[in-house]
Amino acid sequence: MLVEIQVQCPHCGEVITTMADTSQGDYTTIEDCEVCCAPMNIEVICEPDRVEEVRVTLA
Ligand SMILES: [Zn+2]
Repeated sequence: MLVEIQVQCPHCGEVITTMADTSQGDYTTIEDCEVCCAPMNIEVICEPDRVEEVRVTLA
C-alpha cells in the first residue's frame, strides 16, 4: 500500500514528494534527493495505508 509523503531534504532544504510503502509497518530507507542528489535517511512510522510520522536525517 503506497502512500504519498513529503520529506524535506536535510542537505538543500527542498521538499520532495515520494511514495512510502506502508504494508510492512515502520521502516527506514535511503533515497537520493531529486534536487541535490545527496542521500537522505528516511524513517517512516506507519500502519497499513496510513503514515503517522516521517523523520528525515542525514545519511
Ligand atoms: Zn537535496
